[in-house]
Amino acid sequence: METVYLDHAATTPLDNDVFEKMRPFYTESFGNADSPHSYGRKSMIAVDSARDKIAELIGAKPSEVYFTSGGTESDNWAIIGGALSKRRQENRMRVLVSAIEHHAALDACERLKRDGFTVDVIPVDGSGRVCAEKVKEMLGYDVALVCMMAANNETGALQPVQELADEIKSCGAYFFTDAVQLAPYERIDVKKLGVDMLSFSGHKFYGPKGVGVLYIKSGVKMEKLVGGGEQERGLRGGTLNVPSVVGLSAAYEKNVATMSATNEKITKLRALFLKEISVLEGVKINGGKGLDSILNLQIEGVENAALLYALDLKGIAIAAGSACASASVKPSHVLTAMGLAEKQAKSSVRISFGKTNDEEGVLYAARAFVETVNRIRG
Ligand code: PLP
Repeated sequence: METVYLDHAATTPLDNDVFEKMRPFYTESFGNADSPHSYGRKSMIAVDSARDKIAELIGAKPSEVYFTSGGTESDNWAIIGGALSKRRQENRMRVLVSAIEHHAALDACERLKRDGFTVDVIPVDGSGRVCAEKVKEMLGYDVALVCMMAANNETGALQPVQELADEIKSCGAYFFTDAVQLAPYERIDVKKLGVDMLSFSGHKFYGPKGVGVLYIKSGVKMEKLVGGGEQERGLRGGTLNVPSVVGLSAAYEKNVATMSATNEKITKLRALFLKEISVLEGVKINGGKGLDSILNLQIEGVENAALLYALDLKGIAIAAGSACASASVKPSHVLTAMGLAEKQAKSSVRISFGKTNDEEGVLYAARAFVETVNRIRG
């Protein structure tokens, strides 16, 4: 049976050449990067060069790059660590968070609420985009931190990060953006974006799972989230995951080098898919212009779980919302924040293209999609 993977926003396969760069750090060069002997030094040299490469590619200083266990930890650390620090320094007790954040960010805000913070939710419009004017209205000198993702994981909608950076800065709040979904498709320049903190994750761009980055601008005072040893300049304890750090850096470097070719390919594949399914009535794209890699479709009269499972039987992998929420029966919080009714949200699926796709596979998937939707509709 042919298989077509159309869930690249959930995760991507590890590139073979990236894996080959990681392999020696599992076996012969296995030293603990903090050990003061040749084994340790070899590992630390690899971590330092990975950090230097990431810093160079995102326009940061190496000392501003922290390795974590992934996007989830980076988001939690930025939000909880940033807000607690602002409270300690200036007694600021309010956090602004967009309604469409990943659960990693929303959950961190719930924790802040339990710690006495007020969490105000920034609404989005029907296209899934935060209204910059609304954020400006909500800002105040009591705001500790603003959390607004760069690109949404369910719709691909791009958010006005750069546009809001100055206003947030002049208010004295920390500005954190989750760039987990943006990093695979757009060059990140932390200076241009103007943020204080930014997260991304290795497995979204053909790197390893369980490793991520948190950029923390120098001068930002952070509380630590993971205590332990003195790793990561004393701010994040735990033996460094050397193979994964090496893999993340190699994958990111390759991703940046191949980004425009990948994006061009994805744009064509998306158009091909849309053309092929245009024979169906009652299908609508959720969200406005954003990342071409993510296509969120609302299919009238079709329950997303039924479509997902029927396509899975044909070897086609798509998602109903984000990966972490796919198994839940709840409608997507992103789509409902955009104004979709529960029924419409439950009739929506996410198709996400990647560099592993080709025309043949996309055509097979699109034809199976049409046939399955027609069959479900009876
Ligand atoms: N933030 C966004 C926008 C994501 O899409 C994801 C993963 O789906 C995460 C955070 C969590 O990243 P990780 O899977 O590395 O923990």
